[in-house]
Amino acid sequence: MKKPFVTLEQLQGITQAYPTPFHLYDEKGIRENARRLKEAFAWNPGYREYFAVKATPTPAILKLLREEGCGVDCSSLTELMLAEKCGFSGREIMFSSNETPAEEFALAARLGATINLDDFTHIDFLKQTIGFIPETISCRFNPGGVFRLGESKEGFQVMDTPGDSKYGFTREQLFEGFRTLRSMGAKRFGLHAFLASNTLSNEYYPALAAILFRLAVELRDQTGADVRFINLSGGVGIPYRPDQSENDIAVIGAGVRKAYEEILVPAGMGDVALCTELGRFLLGPYGCLVTRAIHAKHTYKEYIGVDACAANLMRPAIYGAYHHITVMGKEDAPCDHKYDVVGSLCENCDKFAVDRMLPRIDRGDLLVIHDTGAHGFSMGYNYNGKLRSAELLLQAGGGVRLIRRAETPEDYFATMVFE
Ligand SMILES: *Cc1c(COP(=O)(O)O)cnc(C)c1O
Repeated sequence: MKKPFVTLEQLQGITQAYPTPFHLYDEKGIRENARRLKEAFAWNPGYREYFAVKATPTPAILKLLREEGCGVDCSSLTELMLAEKCGFSGREIMFSSNETPAEEFALAARLGATINLDDFTHIDFLKQTIGFIPETISCRFNPGGVFRLGESKEGFQVMDTPGDSKYGFTREQLFEGFRTLRSMGAKRFGLHAFLASNTLSNEYYPALAAILFRLAVELRDQTGADVRFINLSGGVGIPYRPDQSENDIAVIGAGVRKAYEEILVPAGMGDVALCTELGRFLLGPYGCLVTRAIHAKHTYKEYIGVDACAANLMRPAIYGAYHHITVMGKEDAPCDHKYDVVGSLCENCDKFAVDRMLPRIDRGDLLVIHDTGAHGFSMGYNYNGKLRSAELLLQAGGGVRLIRRAETPEDYFATMVFE
């Protein structure tokens, strides 16, 4: 059973000061998870997690992760600016972008961020933009084809299609790219790949690591490049559904270590640092969307209308993603009502749940929509003139802190030209 990290009593207190809807984050859970991740890779001396800013671009969260030793993975101009404002600098910033505008490369270079190139043609583009090739540079690999892991009767545990994804260099481009970069002054190399998203398998990272480790040895042997770091990127997932089991990061770290010791160490590359760029795994379970039931509608189906909508959490609308819902105070009541839990957008995909068995919901009930800590608030938008909600942090000491105020109509009108 999925249990919220906040109680009904706490929420009753919080909602006196802050009206629903809002995203709430769990400081204790975030810190403990960041420590588990760090511990899992402690065997690798240069290891660092670069939190994927796009998952939760909120200063209080980024600063908290910085305290836990994390860097940041940025993908755009404003994410770089945000990282700088939060105190990150130089090697604490990874810049993994694609179809990159010139001004973004320029800022990344000015901040001393590690630039992870997405494409062979970006080598010349970067040189033209900033006038030189940084001594430390990384390239993103895309092996093409289909990536599968863990075949069973139910299908593959992990399956994704890198061959259809827009990211990364082909294998041939990578060898050519490393040679070209060396000739242009690059001295220290990194290798990056992201092959599958939201994986629920302790085998994903070890399998990816083995692919990148073998490739790194070949790249060194054939191009003479000094490979200093390997970036396993994101993709370690979380169980959104209550019947799924969670990844064990300690097992994942040990699996990566085994591949490291089998492939890199014998090749004389036992000093290569590892990086991760986890967003979902690090933050996902430690955020939730708190919303209130404001209508109950009975037509061809039973609808519960809530005061949040897809503008606050887009994943169900665009991916049909499952997010677990707890009706606060009714945790032990029988789930004997079938509801569509819906927001107010003029789009029929604005449904947090479809045909979900839940306890009877009354107007005024508080609902916790789970696992919105990553790719939740951040994917929000202003369709239908809806305003983004506040974000609150449930502090380790128990109190609550506003870490982003809710948008107001003035924010919505600020960019409009009326004359
Ligand atoms: C989105 C993204 C991540 C984070 O992915 P998660 O699924 O949240 O782990 C990491 N690296 C890059 C380059 C990304 O685009």
